[in-house]
Amino acid sequence: MTSSPIFRFAPSPTGLLHLGHAFSALHAFEAAKAARGRFLLRIEDIDHTRCRPEYVTQILEDLSWLGLSWEEPVRYQSEHMDDYKRALTKLEALGVTYQCLASRSEIKAHVEQRSGLGKAERDPDGALIYPGIYRNMDAETTAEMIASGRPPCIRLNMTKAIELVGDNLTFQEKGSGPQGEYGKVLCSPQNWGDVVIARKETPTSYHLSVVVDDALQGISEVTRGQDVFHATSIHRLLQMLLELPEPVYNHHRLIKDQSGAKLSKSAADKSLKAWRCQGFSVEELLEVIENEEHLAKD
Ligand code: GLU
Repeated sequence: MTSSPIFRFAPSPTGLLHLGHAFSALHAFEAAKAARGRFLLRIEDIDHTRCRPEYVTQILEDLSWLGLSWEEPVRYQSEHMDDYKRALTKLEALGVTYQCLASRSEIKAHVEQRSGLGKAERDPDGALIYPGIYRNMDAETTAEMIASGRPPCIRLNMTKAIELVGDNLTFQEKGSGPQGEYGKVLCSPQNWGDVVIARKETPTSYHLSVVVDDALQGISEVTRGQDVFHATSIHRLLQMLLELPEPVYNHHRLIKDQSGAKLSKSAADKSLKAWRCQGFSVEELLEVIENEEHLAKD
């Protein structure tokens, strides 16, 4: 007997959901229905400085209002720190991580001095590539600095990780990447440099938790926005290092506002709740989403 495919929607409760989230959630839900699969909800609330319980409540309310239903229990990442810790320990044992004490301003100053910010290498999200300041720092000096009150984050040594896994890693794209990528896509984790795997303030990161959870929840098809398409390269690399199964990916287009900018949580007037409060029905909202899609295509 083959098991049913499993889909998920995984919002972060750092603000109110907007129409882009509604589109994404419906996309995953409909894909699950079409495949006679299961649909799970995961709340990605590892960042205790930005996540708020009232946003969780609102997410559940908004999704129910949209007509979605999901299996219980909902997985809350904040309740599963031990799972991420285990994965981190495994990466550490492979020798592909290191402690990094650099602050944002230190990184910026270092890059500025080396190449000037204008010419600096940037990752697919536009952030500065980490210049490797603490990559080869000796253990004793690092330990002394930590003991003197500077908390470290943990970074992936990208070169070592790629050496272990090989540079011909791929993923299977069922939807489309920002440039129309489809089918077998060659991963480019090197474009991200030494990514943070565990943060100073929380002993995990989006990249680590997402691969651990997709595996633990048996997700077979990851449906999500194109804004994380390039991050899939990091996720595949981590899956290989951690010996986790490979899901299929289905990235969808982003809903944009009339100026062509991606919707953002900070624009409160764009929240799903605000649309609802203005009296829009689900059907009317779907139409708005449709029209925004057309706008985005122009
Ligand atoms: N929590 C992430 C977000 O809201 C989920 C991304 C993903 O589905 O992998 O962007």
